[in-house]
Amino acid sequence: MGGLTFALILQRYGVKAIVCEHEPFPASRKQGGSIDIHHDSGQMALREADIFEQFEALARYEGQESHLLDKTGKVFLDEVADLNEGDHQAVDKIIFIFITTSGFNPI
Ligand SMILES: Cc1cc2nc3c(=O)[nH]c(=O)nc-3n(C[C@H](O)[C@H](O)[C@H](O)COP(=O)(O)OP(=O)(O)OC[C@H]3O[C@@H](n4cnc5c(N)ncnc54)[C@H](O)[C@@H]3O)c2cc1C
Repeated sequence: MGGLTFALILQRYGVKAIVCEHEPFPASRKQGGSIDIHHDSGQMALREADIFEQFEALARYEGQESHLLDKTGKVFLDEVADLNEGDHQAVDKIIFIFITTSGFNPI
């Protein structure tokens, strides 16, 4: 994911980049859950790669929430995200990969 983002940045500045990937397509294996992208690191890279708006449209703050319930629905933990904080946003890894690969033009 970092490599793809970097490749997009290079491409944006006219530097030809080759991305080597042995998986045939993004959904060929389970990519895991969400990825948190922070304001002062990952989000800066996404802006530089010119994909921040696409990311923001699909990202969610609820990814920062934690809820713990038993099988009856009784709530033991209910941490609700503060939508005004805006420090980091979560997005499904598979969605992140689709955002970055869709903007990349293979040589
Ligand atoms: C459990 C977990 C949770 C994480 N959560 C976060 C988070 O919330 N926020 C965050 O910013 N970072 C998170 N990270 C870190 C983040 O995933 C990595 O920093 C980032 O993916 C690194 O990008 P990369 O392009 O270097 O490597 P990767 O994203 O791992 O990409 C490497 C690619 O190379 C391919 N590949 C491997 N071997 C070969 C080969 N021999 N030939 C061809 N292709 C090959 C792989 O299939 C893979 O697609 C997490 C990492 C883990 C493991």
